[in-house]
Amino acid sequence: MKASVEELETLLELQTKVFAQRSVVLKAKELSSSPAIEEARAQLAEITGSLSAQRSRVEDVERDIKRLESDVELVEKRLQKDLERMNQSSNPKDIAGIEHEIASLNNRKSNLEDTELELMEQRDVAIAELDSLQEQRKSAEDALENTKSNITAELEGLRAENTALVASIEDLRAKLPSELVELFDKKIQRGAAVGRLTGSSCSACNMNLNSTAMAEISRVPADELATCSECSAMLVRA
Ligand SMILES: [Zn+2]
Repeated sequence: MKASVEELETLLELQTKVFAQRSVVLKAKELSSSPAIEEARAQLAEITGSLSAQRSRVEDVERDIKRLESDVELVEKRLQKDLERMNQSSNPKDIAGIEHEIASLNNRKSNLEDTELELMEQRDVAIAELDSLQEQRKSAEDALENTKSNITAELEGLRAENTALVASIEDLRAKLPSELVELFDKKIQRGAAVGRLTGSSCSACNMNLNSTAMAEISRVPADELATCSECSAMLVRA
């Protein structure tokens, strides 16, 4: 088959572009199924879960505080009533009874207030934790958005690269005789289709050809196609 050095050089360039395009397609495929987005999504879901658990913890404590406050109110009302009864009574026995009740009510009130203070501290800690989780969720949302837009931008870049490569592949193919292109297409499916022969070394398979193979190649006229005896790539001899 006839093949000029110029055509073979064009085939070599075509091969470089074909390999480059393959790797662009592969990179795009890897990016599209990127685990980074799934990771960012899982992170966000986890924080959202913790956040709603923490929110109900805060609500529970607040409910307990309200219950205690109304208990304190009841005790205060009874204290008020006892004081009125004591003021109206002149019977020492009754007064002693009321005083006893007032003492135990005061005791109860002070216990309730101590518990309320403890719960308020718990609520403050729980609210601080809730605030921190809210910040964490904001960061996780931002991280997910960033990951998504980075991937989108990278994919756009790859798409542009692919379009340019496809166009120059088409240009190069159009410059070549169809039978050379057909042979090229057949060979490139198995590996490198073209190699440069430098000394006795073939750049397609990186093998050094023996003297018999070299002698055979040198017998092929300069405008005819010579192939590598090791990998059967078309050889650019220059
Ligand atoms: Zn070879």
